[in-house]
Amino acid sequence: MKLPFFAQLFKSLARPPATNPFPAPHLPPSVTEYLDDVRAGQAKLNPPVPFPPGGRGRIAYDPAACIGCKLCIKVCPAHAIDFIPEAKKIRIFRAQCIACGQCTEVCAKKCLSMDGEFLQADTDRNSPALVAE
Ligand code: SF4
Ligand code: SF4
Repeated sequence: MKLPFFAQLFKSLARPPATNPFPAPHLPPSVTEYLDDVRAGQAKLNPPVPFPPGGRGRIAYDPAACIGCKLCIKVCPAHAIDFIPEAKKIRIFRAQCIACGQCTEVCAKKCLSMDGEFLQADTDRNSPALVAE
C-alpha cells in the first residue's frame, strides 16, 4: 500500500543513507594532501556504507573455468568484455561494466559472478583491480 507523503518522508529520514558519504568530513583544499594526511594517520575518511542485501557489486571472472564461447560478450550491453584470441579467454573492463549481471546469467560454465565489492575507484583504468582477466 502506498504511504501518504509525510509518512514516506519521515520513513526516509529515519532510514540510514544508501549511498556513501563524501570520504572527508568537509571538502579539503587539496584532496591529495588530505589523502597524504590519511596515510600518515593525521586524518580520517568517512567509512563506506555496508553493502546492501541483494546488491550486485563488481563483476568477477574465473578464467580457469572459461571455455571462450564468447556468449558473455554477445549479451554485454556496455561492451565491457574483450576476447583474447591467443588465450581463448576474456578480459572484463570493470570501469566500463554497468553491473547488469547479464553475462553471469548466460555463462554456462558459471565462471562469471558478482562479488559484492563495490568500491572500485582507481586512478588507472587498466589497473588489475579494474581489469578482470
Ligand atoms: S560465457 Fe562464460 S565460458 Fe563463455 S566466454 Fe564468457 S566467461 Fe567464458
Ligand atoms: S555485468 Fe553487464 S555490463 Fe558488466 S560485464 Fe557483465 S554483461 Fe557487461
